[in-house]
Amino acid sequence: MTPNDLRAAVLNVKRWSRADQRAPNKPLMIAYALAKYLQGHDQMFSYEDEVDQDLYLLLQRFGPARRVYHPEYPFWRLINDGIWQLDNAEGCLPRKSNNDPPKSELVKHGVLGGFSDEAYSLIKEDRQFTIDLLNSVLNENFPESIVPDISAQLGLELALKQDNKRDPKFRADVLNAYNGRCAICGFDARLNNNLFAIEAAHIKWKQFNGPCTVNNGLALCSIHHKALDKGVIGFSSDMRLKISQALNGGKVIDALFWELEGKQISLPRNKNLFPSEGYVKWHISNVFSS
Ligand SMILES: [Zn+2]
Repeated sequence: MTPNDLRAAVLNVKRWSRADQRAPNKPLMIAYALAKYLQGHDQMFSYEDEVDQDLYLLLQRFGPARRVYHPEYPFWRLINDGIWQLDNAEGCLPRKSNNDPPKSELVKHGVLGGFSDEAYSLIKEDRQFTIDLLNSVLNENFPESIVPDISAQLGLELALKQDNKRDPKFRADVLNAYNGRCAICGFDARLNNNLFAIEAAHIKWKQFNGPCTVNNGLALCSIHHKALDKGVIGFSSDMRLKISQALNGGKVIDALFWELEGKQISLPRNKNLFPSEGYVKWHISNVFSS
């Protein structure tokens, strides 16, 4: 295995469960392991003592909202991707097809998981390679507004590079269509003549092939952009504002969020530039946390 093989295998890890549904379980498991290796962890992770709790928190915070989270799925299923190994797994075998062992069995047999010997030696050999690999995993699966939060939760102090695959026309086209104003709160601050803290947000993430077109964009202030990417806000099919019931806060939160709930957001004059319903629906089912 060469570093390029490892890189290709890591980036090929299946991240769609069905169609283009967001299923960040495996990317988060990989990012977790790479981050721990950078901090000096040895090759194998204990399901019971580490992954069960740490990956649970990552899935809860950065995955789509679910009633139950399953850190045991990626921990077990990564063996199918050719880069992962499990120790003490014999006790959980054999299994009927497509039937993963429940947590209780992973705990009972003290199952350990980690990158394969070959992959691990490449990772240990070249710190910069590992940093770049971790960077790619995060940037291929999460929008740039979220990546720093994940790095912080992974205990990384290194500043990860920002993704630069953004189409430069996207920002200009979106800000133009929305008159340089946040579509939700109307924030339109300018310093001299330059806008600040106004951003062009993707509704369907470009990591999931959301295009850089105005009908997949919104002009938002930095706060509402982050709220969109974190799933704090979403939109009904007639572009009225929905707010996650999990949102808490004081008076400023009332003014920036609750008082705007159910109101229609400001849209471009030209109807052809309105957000497309398919992108809005993708965001509601994959990102919004009801
Ligand atoms: Zn705003």
